[in-house]
Amino acid sequence: MHCPFCGTLDTKVIDSRLVNDGASVRRRRECTECKERFTTFETAELVMPRVIKSDGTREPFNEDKLRNGLLRALEKRPVSLEAIEQAIQNVKSSLRATGEREVTSQLIGALVMDNLKALDKVAYIRFASVYRAFEDIREFGEEIARLND
Ligand SMILES: [Zn+2]
Repeated sequence: MHCPFCGTLDTKVIDSRLVNDGASVRRRRECTECKERFTTFETAELVMPRVIKSDGTREPFNEDKLRNGLLRALEKRPVSLEAIEQAIQNVKSSLRATGEREVTSQLIGALVMDNLKALDKVAYIRFASVYRAFEDIREFGEEIARLND
């Protein structure tokens, strides 16, 4: 693949390893021209289940939507893009692992929360407060308290 820095077509793989329980390959590449290094992830393109929204309508799974939700929650948080990509892959493989042709948007939200909880507690709370729409401030406080257990 071409170098994202200078556009040269020739880049070489300097390291390659399985990640995400073997579901993806992470490659470190180096440009033969400008010597910049970058990372690529390779994942088999599998059909994702369709998403049942809360109003009952269906829509195709949208990875960008998932990524944007995570990025919004993780804004200005000390979490690498690589860790975010990993979280996206985690959510996708969990969804595929259900074996269902359709999954609810609630399930996706719950999976995102699981991943955010492990990544960054502040982002988790941000996401949870929007997604779960906490009933009142006390419930919100209880959730925060539980994070410190
Ligand atoms: Zn280059």
